[in-house]
Amino acid sequence: MKTFQNFIAGRWADACTGATFENINPADTVDVIGTFPRSGAEEVNRAVASAARGFAQWKRTPAPVRGDVLRRVGDLMSARKEEIAALMTREMGKPLHETRGDVQEGIDTAYYAASEGRRLFGHTVPSELRDKWAMSFRRPIGIAGLVTPFNFPMAIPTWKMFPALLCGNSVVIKPAEDVPQTVTVLVELLLEAGLPPEVIQLVHGHGEEAGAVLVQHPDVPLISFTGSTETGRIVGEICGRMHKRLSLEMGGKNAMIVLNDADLDLALDGVLWGAFGTTGQRCTATSRLILQDGVHDTFVAALAQRVSKLRLGDGRAEGTDVGPLINESAVEKVERYMGVGLKEGAEVRTGGRRATAKGLERGHFFEPTIFVGVKAGSRLEQEEIFGPVLSVVRVRTADEAFTVNNDVRYGLSSSLYTRDVNLAFRALNELDNGITYINAPTIGAEAHLPFGGVKQTGNGHREGGWEVYEFYSETKVGYVDFSGTLQRAQIDTYQHR
Ligand code: NAD
Repeated sequence: MKTFQNFIAGRWADACTGATFENINPADTVDVIGTFPRSGAEEVNRAVASAARGFAQWKRTPAPVRGDVLRRVGDLMSARKEEIAALMTREMGKPLHETRGDVQEGIDTAYYAASEGRRLFGHTVPSELRDKWAMSFRRPIGIAGLVTPFNFPMAIPTWKMFPALLCGNSVVIKPAEDVPQTVTVLVELLLEAGLPPEVIQLVHGHGEEAGAVLVQHPDVPLISFTGSTETGRIVGEICGRMHKRLSLEMGGKNAMIVLNDADLDLALDGVLWGAFGTTGQRCTATSRLILQDGVHDTFVAALAQRVSKLRLGDGRAEGTDVGPLINESAVEKVERYMGVGLKEGAEVRTGGRRATAKGLERGHFFEPTIFVGVKAGSRLEQEEIFGPVLSVVRVRTADEAFTVNNDVRYGLSSSLYTRDVNLAFRALNELDNGITYINAPTIGAEAHLPFGGVKQTGNGHREGGWEVYEFYSETKVGYVDFSGTLQRAQIDTYQHR
């Protein structure tokens, strides 16, 4: 079995206690990928001290040169895409076509960041006084503490790391304990691409141990967290008390609305991908299907038939549609919601059980499940399950569908299938989500657009695109008065009026 290490202060090292945890293949739990250091305060403290030295060096490196490093990372990731996808599938479970996409998102994010190194725009605006210049520009902040979830082992770390680095910050990352290998490879690639070693620190370990210490560290002014709304609340409270800059990307309960005039074949393909891709373990997964009366019965019948044919299995095997859940507690959570749904009067149309067929018995598999007769406001309809479970809600009108979509505490993604262009544009305005898709499922964000949600999905920041660069940099304003006299803003220009 392979032993993996932290990367702290420019070298690979074990936890100082020697404690480790295992990385296990969720499709086959006897397959142990390796052991990783179970870090605590000592490792985090050393990582932060090293990152402070890295920051002093990196912030003076010109942004276009920082971008060149990230471009090389993109090149290296492209060259090793297949290999990274395979190891990611082994530790995370989703099929190879999905892990290839996960790596590609990292590549896209690298090239976007590289180009941003030659932009990082500020503003030059006229001063109200003569012979005076007024401008804004962007400065790095310091050490960025990054805490990431299990479901996008490459894409989400790159969404945070690349803009943080491009802006001139140094980084301490604590990846999810279920998928520690992919980030380990990412750090190797950053070093190979020429990133000065102390600019990046990788600390493996559990959230309540290494993660919590990082979030609370007084020398880390910026935290970016992606994970559940429950963990995000803990992180948010700490950062609020400590006046840290904080980006939270959290849970979702995303709905696809299919109206009577929709292209039903298109909607069918969309909901299969949206609900059961990544085994429903996407923050943007379609977990609610809101069907208008006129198409409800035909659509559910066709969908149930397609869902029962989805092939579960090891994501590395040819033809697998749906991989395992990430771990045993994820399976138990999904099982608990079967009981919740039945108690609330919903009916299982297909699925509803652990999958134990031959070849699946050693993995965390659950049958793709459809609940029908789900009531708006019920727990099944309101709570994030994070598994292959789709709840179908029947509505009479588009307005009712919009209300059901909006009446949850989350607000990440939504989707509307209709041929009515007026209604489509009205939906963009009225659906309370950070992202709305028209005639496409709730998943499929692109790296060069801002990504994030409203309400309890986020705290107002965005990942991706141009907006994330504002989070990882501080605006500074410079005034240069070359008049040679004291000029008083708000006073001298206006005193004779
Ligand atoms: P999680 O909240 O269990 O863990 C996320 C990370 O936080 C892990 O690295 C974990 O070790 C760490 N952590 C746990 N407790 C901590 C603590 N007390 N202090 C600091 N760090 C701590 O989430 P998960 O199960 O890995 O991921 C699934 C969740 O992530 C879902 O709710 C999903 O919707 C959400 N998610 C959101 C987005 C988004 O962009 N909105 C993207 C992906 C996943």
